[in-house]
Amino acid sequence: MLTRKNIVTIDGPSGSGKSTLSRLIAAKLGYTFLDTGAMYRAVGYKAVQLGVDLDDGEALAKMLENLDLVLAPGDGDTRVLLDGEDISLAIRTAEMGLVASRVSAQGVVRQKLTAMQQSMGEKEAVVAEGRDTGTVVFPAARYKFYLDASAEERARRRSEQLREKGQPVDEKEILAQIIKRDRADSARSLAPLKAAEDAVIIDSSAMTIDEVVAFMFEKVTTS
Ligand code: C5P
Repeated sequence: MLTRKNIVTIDGPSGSGKSTLSRLIAAKLGYTFLDTGAMYRAVGYKAVQLGVDLDDGEALAKMLENLDLVLAPGDGDTRVLLDGEDISLAIRTAEMGLVASRVSAQGVVRQKLTAMQQSMGEKEAVVAEGRDTGTVVFPAARYKFYLDASAEERARRRSEQLREKGQPVDEKEILAQIIKRDRADSARSLAPLKAAEDAVIIDSSAMTIDEVVAFMFEKVTTS
C-alpha cells in the first residue's frame, strides 16, 4: 500500500477548473494525473457505439467484461485509448458529458472503474480528479480538495474554452447543461458529487488558475 501522502484528490462539479488545475498540480508535484471523468466518458462512448442501453446495468456489466481502456498523458487533455482506438477528442463533447453522467449512475460501472482507479493509485503517486475521488475511491488520501465555482462562472469559462477551439457557443445552453449535469451527479444515490468531510473547499469563482495552484501546492507541500 502507498502511504497516504502519495494521493491528492480533487473533486467538484463540471467546469470548476478541476482538469486544468489537476494537471498543473500533478506536473508540479511529479505525480501522475488520473482523470476519472475520462474513464466514465469512455464507458459511455463504448455503450453508444455498441447501442447498449445507458440505463441497463446488466447490459453494461456484460459490455464491461471486455473493457480495454488505457489512459496516457497527452499535451492537453489525457489521451484515452479504447480498444486501441484514440477517442480523446470524441469523448470531450457536452453530449458525451451527459452520456457519461447516465452510465456513471450504474453501480456496475462505478465498481469497475473505482477498482481500476484504486489499482492505479496503488502503483504510483496520483492526483485524482473527479466527483468521488476523495469520498469513495481514495477515502484515505492525505490531501483532498473540493473545487467549486458558481454555475454562471463555470458556463462562462466553458464557453471561452469552446470559442478558443473555434467551436460555436450558446452560453445559455451551456449553463442549462451544467445545471442539469450537476443536479444528476449530486442527486444520485451512488457516490454522489459532494465534498469529503476532510476536504479543503475552494471557491474559485474569483480566483485565477495560478492563485489556486499556488494555494493547493502550498497546502500539499507544507501540511
Ligand atoms: O469530469 P467529467 O466532466 O469528464 O465527468 C463526466 C461525468 O462522469 C460526470 O458528469 C459524472 O457524471 C461522471 N463522473 C463520476 N465520477 C467521477 C468522475 C466523473 O460519476 N469520479
